[in-house]
Amino acid sequence: MRNKSLWDALLGLADAVIESVDVDETSGQIVVQVRIKAAASRRCGRCLRRCPRYDQGTSRRRWRHMDAGVLMVWIVAEAPRVSCRDCGVVTCHIPWARAGAGHTADFDHHIAWLATNASKTTVATLARIAWRTVGAIITRVWADIEACTDRFANLSRIGIDEISYKKGQRYLTMVVDHDTGRLLWAGVGRDTETVDEFFDALGPERCVAITHVSADAAPWIAKSVRTHCPGAIRCADAFHVVAWATKALDTVRRQAWNTAAGRARDTNRTGRNSTGAARVLKGARWALWKNPEDLTTSQHHKLTWIAKTDPALWRAYLLKEGLRHVFKIKGAAGKTALDRWLSWAVRCRIPAFVELASTIKRNRTEIDNALDHNLSNALIESINTKIRRITRTAYGFTNPEALIALALLAHSGHRPQLPGRTTHG
Ligand SMILES: [Zn+2]
Repeated sequence: MRNKSLWDALLGLADAVIESVDVDETSGQIVVQVRIKAAASRRCGRCLRRCPRYDQGTSRRRWRHMDAGVLMVWIVAEAPRVSCRDCGVVTCHIPWARAGAGHTADFDHHIAWLATNASKTTVATLARIAWRTVGAIITRVWADIEACTDRFANLSRIGIDEISYKKGQRYLTMVVDHDTGRLLWAGVGRDTETVDEFFDALGPERCVAITHVSADAAPWIAKSVRTHCPGAIRCADAFHVVAWATKALDTVRRQAWNTAAGRARDTNRTGRNSTGAARVLKGARWALWKNPEDLTTSQHHKLTWIAKTDPALWRAYLLKEGLRHVFKIKGAAGKTALDRWLSWAVRCRIPAFVELASTIKRNRTEIDNALDHNLSNALIESINTKIRRITRTAYGFTNPEALIALALLAHSGHRPQLPGRTTHG
């Protein structure tokens, strides 16, 4: 070791005395032997209470630290044990690492920051760790942030939504704050018990302060909301209602496609040319789904073609757009428009939309509330998209807690900070 103060500054380890530094260029590693300063070693590793030292510990331990240039850095030290009056004989608090972790706290923060900003491959390749390990790191970083922040203060208008992960086989329930646009909470499952978990974490006093809850029409959400926030106004998410219409439209498109494909087969059998209707309908999915203002020229052409050749599918498209318009104008005008929409939909002779009309009638109170109270639809939509992206990135984490931790680190307003920076970086 040539320059102790240089290594001290480079490693930035709190309460550590560097004993030796070995550089192994062959393996690309630096091993730094340190010892915890005596005063710092007399704290309980679990509850941080000051307590007497018990012994030297059972063995020397290793922590991966942030790289120095291209070399991996390992910190090696004895982990003395203390005798805590509450926790018994436990390993003392390690000033540079979280309890039980194999990485230093700086390394943890570095990874947590990267994971919220870069792709899975970038993080794993740059840090030379497995994606599974990233999952464990962000889970403990989030647990620390959660313990020292109060995310549930001053809540009044919340949105509850579900999202699927593991290729649609598992579900998370998410709660967002309509006023800050942040993700507040996420839990595994999509049932009343999962929503109850959130309200239990919120506590009865704060439940009373909730004035508006938006959600899709799922009865399992409504049940929990009625129990915990009986005074809150329940609103239907416009995003979900419009999604029902998009789904109904897709049913109609698929039926039209099947009919056209069948017709094409019959025509081919009789030796005549196919009309190409099936092909156009197959490619028309995006044209039908997209908002008209976002259509490309070729998608515009597809819609014009549908208007001319398939009146039922065209009616279905107009019905979908009509419902979207209801949520665009909102308020009393929106409610009047919805009345007109319903009387059109019940008589449209398209089964998927007749059914949609009765679903909408069943949920009319919540939908009217949404039109009156104008909870941001864009917020639910954008959080939904962001979390969907995270569930894809998080694929490969062994447990859903890591997925939840990543979602909350990225979107709860408590992003991890890079070590050594005084401001958000
Ligand atoms: Zn303790």
